[in-house]
Amino acid sequence: MAQGQRRVRAVPLRCPKDGGVARPAVLGVAGLSSIAQSAADRAREIDREFEIGRRWRSLSLDFSRNAPRYRKQLSDFLDTPLGRSVATIFFLWFALSGWLFRVFIFATWVLPFAAPLLIGTIANNFVIEGECPACRKRFVGYRNQAVRCSSCGNIVWQPKGDFFSKGGKGRNSSTSSQPDVIDVEFEEK
Ligand SMILES: [Zn+2]
Repeated sequence: MAQGQRRVRAVPLRCPKDGGVARPAVLGVAGLSSIAQSAADRAREIDREFEIGRRWRSLSLDFSRNAPRYRKQLSDFLDTPLGRSVATIFFLWFALSGWLFRVFIFATWVLPFAAPLLIGTIANNFVIEGECPACRKRFVGYRNQAVRCSSCGNIVWQPKGDFFSKGGKGRNSSTSSQPDVIDVEFEEK
């Protein structure tokens, strides 16, 4: 027999019951039903995941809405002697069980990456940077206080609500009588 040649005889599938050719319809139905079954399983799974997701969302929403209340309750609880001892025990357990160590390790690994981001976000909330509209000089200052241009002296940043409400005591007279308060555009980084 030459290499590479092989004869394959086609064997018709016979039904063991009546000796006839096995009906692929039976197979098909079985396949279909198993597919349908798995699809139903999958659908149920998705449904469950969706349900869990929905519950989790509403739970976290609830939690964030009630967070101040929880925090108050927690601090109230921690003020009681029982709460203080519970907190102490918890901290001792935390320290002794190695979780403190784990968190510390985690922090040393994550902080070098997270810190610049965090600092950037914080800085963005506290620092304002822009260009003086009068003389085009760049300025940097704290958001919570008025910023003056260093070269022309114009006020280039005024904190919100500071104009009339916060500056009411003494400062108001000086700020409202400032003739050089101007509207400026600033850059949000
Ligand atoms: Zn200027």
